[in-house]
Amino acid sequence: MNKYNEMLKKQKQFFFTDKTKSVSFRIEALEKLLQAIKKYEEELMAALKIDLNKSAFDAYTTEIGILYQEIKFNKRHLKEWTKPNKVKTPLTHTGSKSYIYAEPYGSTLVIAPWNYPFQLAVAPIIGAIAAGNCVVLKPSELTPTTSQVLNKLLSETFPEEYICVVEGGVETSQALLKEPFDYLFFTGSVSVGKIMMEAAAKQLTPITLELGGKSPCIVHKDAHLKLAAKRIAWGKFTNAGQTCVAPDYLYVDRQVKQEFLRELQKSILELYGEQPLDNEDFTHIINVKHFNRLSAFLTDGETLLGGGTDKDRLVIEPTVLTNINWSDKVMGDEIFGPILPIMEYENLTDVINEVNQHPKPLALYLFSESRKIQGQVMTQISYGGGCINDTIYHLSSPHLPFGGVGASGMGSYHGKAGFDTFSHKKSIMKQTTKFDIPLRYPNVKDGLKKIKLFLK
Ligand code: NAD
Repeated sequence: MNKYNEMLKKQKQFFFTDKTKSVSFRIEALEKLLQAIKKYEEELMAALKIDLNKSAFDAYTTEIGILYQEIKFNKRHLKEWTKPNKVKTPLTHTGSKSYIYAEPYGSTLVIAPWNYPFQLAVAPIIGAIAAGNCVVLKPSELTPTTSQVLNKLLSETFPEEYICVVEGGVETSQALLKEPFDYLFFTGSVSVGKIMMEAAAKQLTPITLELGGKSPCIVHKDAHLKLAAKRIAWGKFTNAGQTCVAPDYLYVDRQVKQEFLRELQKSILELYGEQPLDNEDFTHIINVKHFNRLSAFLTDGETLLGGGTDKDRLVIEPTVLTNINWSDKVMGDEIFGPILPIMEYENLTDVINEVNQHPKPLALYLFSESRKIQGQVMTQISYGGGCINDTIYHLSSPHLPFGGVGASGMGSYHGKAGFDTFSHKKSIMKQTTKFDIPLRYPNVKDGLKKIKLFLK
């Protein structure tokens, strides 16, 4: 028996004590998690600064504060979510009552990426705890300082038979995938998502995939251009574009292109300064491999703004490229960096047709004041979720399930969706023993005729 097998066995034993099934246990665990994050807040912010040069403001808003909200939301609603859901019973089942019970899966494996290394590791754990599961977390190896703090924080707060962290890279992840977990929750790239699904298929493990892809942003001629520019600049360049739901590329209506580009330049300068390479608060690129990958895009099209890089510190300026088309390198794959390619359009239908030629995106952002245009884009393109007249903000509402569709993922979480994802819905019919309607039995006289009265 290897160490992961043994660890999982311990978790399953703990799960079968039924402790995690008690609602008060879950609420207490969520509260402990909240207090532990509070305790480690400073250390976490320092770790995020080391790993990605995240500013305190970014670290708090996008990694820590968002989790406080999620934990509080779960605590507030847990009693109501865990109540058996009494549903109707059809006439054919007279005498019985019907319920849906939310049952925890058991021991769940959570595999996390590096771009929001704390938030994306802990947010699924909140759902898993709320639903009554045990968790093994494999955080990203590319943000080792944050992963260490995460490990310390969780192992100090919870016994490992309940929640435990396994640090390591691809081999560790692959070794864990061989174990018979009851649920697999993966956040990361499309290519690794396929590896996860293959591994899950081998054991028929239910799975959620939170993946990425190229998320379009469309600025229509009737958009509020000034606000559009500011919200796009923020959504794209937060975390130096290393956000799964960042606008990947932008289509702007030819009629307003020049005016929009002027506003966009203004907004980027306002938000990130004249010398972004020296901006102490601008997030760095995760490593040299990604830095080189991104730098190769900088020769595409024409550089409207930015383009500067600092390889020693792994910084790339917020960059806007114009005169781009789909054959450019930058349009090949998810960019995941501070580079915004811009294309123009005359006819919105052409944009819709083009987007529909590509894998279904995780997010889509439309800037338009017209309800008709909003409805058209929303219904004619399939994508995970998104915003109208904003970018990335939908992700932080606990009332909105967050997830992809098609190549951008399957399943969702955040708020109630997280609880649902980590719960099996068990349908139970409680039958009466006071009487027994004979209709279903094969020896009833004129049985077929009678049953036809009900099943027609
Ligand atoms: P990644 O897929 O390279 O790695 C994610 C995790 O998988 C890491 O823990 C890593 O150790 C593990 N892993 C990597 N290769 C593996 C392999 N061959 N076998 C088994 N495990 C393996 O992703 P990343 O580079 O850390 O993150 C960036 C990607 O994640 C982007 O595509 C981004 O869009 C996506 N993402 C999606 C969301 C979302 O919520 N949908 C959020 C953040 C990031």
